[in-house]
Amino acid sequence: MDIIHLLPDSVANQIAAGEVIQRPASCLKELVENSLDAGATRIQVIVRDAGRTLLQVIDDGIGMSEMDARLAFERHATSKIREAQDLFSLRTMGFRGEALASICAVAQVEMTTRRAQDETGTLIEIHGSDVVRQEPCACPVGTNIKVSNLFFNVPVRRKFLKTDQTELRNLLTEFYHIVLVYPKVAFTFVHNDEILLELPVGTEKQRIEAVYGNPKRNVYTSAFVDVHTETEMVSIRGFVIKPENATRKAEQYFFVNGRYMRHPYFQKAVMTAYSGMLTSDYQPSYFIYFDIDPEAIDVNIHPTKTEIKFADEQTIFQILMASVREALGKFSLAPTIDFDTQSSIDIPLPTDQPVSRPQVSVDPTYNPFHTRGAIYPDRAPKNWESLYEGMSAAKPLNDEMSSPAELNDGLRPMDQDSPVWQYKGRYILAPGEEGLLLLNQHRAHVAILYAQFMEQLSLTRGASQQLLFPEVLPLAQDEMALMTQLLDDLRAIGFDLEQLSPDSYSIQGIPAQLANQSPVPVLQQILAQVQECGADTRQEWRKQIALNLAKATAIPYGKILAETEMRDLITRLMALPQYRLAPDGKTIVSVLSDEELAKRF
Ligand code: ADP
Ligand code: MG
Repeated sequence: MDIIHLLPDSVANQIAAGEVIQRPASCLKELVENSLDAGATRIQVIVRDAGRTLLQVIDDGIGMSEMDARLAFERHATSKIREAQDLFSLRTMGFRGEALASICAVAQVEMTTRRAQDETGTLIEIHGSDVVRQEPCACPVGTNIKVSNLFFNVPVRRKFLKTDQTELRNLLTEFYHIVLVYPKVAFTFVHNDEILLELPVGTEKQRIEAVYGNPKRNVYTSAFVDVHTETEMVSIRGFVIKPENATRKAEQYFFVNGRYMRHPYFQKAVMTAYSGMLTSDYQPSYFIYFDIDPEAIDVNIHPTKTEIKFADEQTIFQILMASVREALGKFSLAPTIDFDTQSSIDIPLPTDQPVSRPQVSVDPTYNPFHTRGAIYPDRAPKNWESLYEGMSAAKPLNDEMSSPAELNDGLRPMDQDSPVWQYKGRYILAPGEEGLLLLNQHRAHVAILYAQFMEQLSLTRGASQQLLFPEVLPLAQDEMALMTQLLDDLRAIGFDLEQLSPDSYSIQGIPAQLANQSPVPVLQQILAQVQECGADTRQEWRKQIALNLAKATAIPYGKILAETEMRDLITRLMALPQYRLAPDGKTIVSVLSDEELAKRF
């Protein structure tokens, strides 16, 4: 016996409904979008019990013929696309032809509709995909569709619905997404016989005012600044709020070609334009409308269609950021950068400034090879041997290590003009008192930078550099918790981090030393290391932060160094209280003694 059979349409439609119609709000969205696609100028929404009992949409659009009224409820019945090709030039809201079929599969639907050219209209009633009635009727031009008892035949779905309050809020959210882009269409929203919104035809600004005019919502159109940019690729219009009117919870909207969209990447573009202007946790409200050739976007990536993919997101990011910045600047609102936040700095330390530790009487710029002062003529001390005397008293960086005096013993380089060489892009060779010094160039630099980062951490003054394109750091739940613990120190060292979602942070600025590197792997590495070492005191995790940053930014293996760079590296290394071993315990300097050398011949 064959076991494969086709699903009856009603079942297929119920399955589709699971995707398209999850709750009353999604049903409302589909209905109102149909009305807009039908060219309506006035749309009334009537809701009872947050849409559970009734969702009704009345429009004055083009209406449907008797035949179309029946076809409209068939799966993949649409008047909006004929060929797959049309998908790319879409200007209408709906296009899949599955909304009405899905809705009538899970509700009792009654519709009356009439076109201007017809004398009589059509009434059609469908219960769970079955047509129970279709007859001519007298009705105004347009369409009036009533969806009753949503999910009457899908108890699981019905149970799944939240409280009326929540579902009503969802309904209004969907409704806002639509009405904010159609100020030329009049809307009314009635819930349980109460008019909640009455939106006359007006400008976009008036529409925003009408929706959010309630001062409690903290969006004041008087606080708006216009954004306007036309380029060949995209037109961007809209309003952004002045930084001083930012709130803890803001209204942030993007629309593209008359459709609401979520776009976390573009959201970052706006936030970047505001960077330095907002007090922490305050968000700017904005309403930004994009107009773009439909061929340059793909609205088809999700059935509920709020995620939209752009062909050239990076360029649009830049255009958007620039136009918001320009708008804010035009009203002389722009960068009076607030250095008061904990992540910013007053005096940035230049990247290559050597660290001076007070307890060690060492001139860190001093180069033992150059007592004649070729490199730092005015800074070369007279009596350089004495510089090392203070070292035995110095506290080692790594408490667990033994006295630096003995560790550093015998590693002093020869003085003056002894030559230095680089070997295979990895090692620096220099004549020392007791033999040939072999330095690992990368580790030497790690040790220098580590000391520098530790100092910046203790002084909370890492130099930060804002990113042109903020990056997203996705994190697991345990990492999120760890992140909260490390946040102060990461900010102190120059990371500008804001929580983006329950499982991600946005990286808006990085320690200046990190320059052109992606901060994401560095931060991931820091978190992994802190976790792995079970670092649970501040001092311990600071060491991990400093060490991982140092490793990420140190001179890599393979880098060819100039002689001055090598000398500088040695000078700065020797200025550290402990320079034989790197902070992670690895050997930096090794000596091939003169004896050993002699034995070889
Ligand atoms: P889609 O909108 O994706 O085409 P729907 O299932 O939402 O699919 O609607 C099917 C068809 O029914 C539409 O293409 C349109 O021709 C017609 N239709 C639906 N609602 C209306 C309306 N309010 N006014 C006029 N025609 C409508
Ligand atoms: Mg539709």
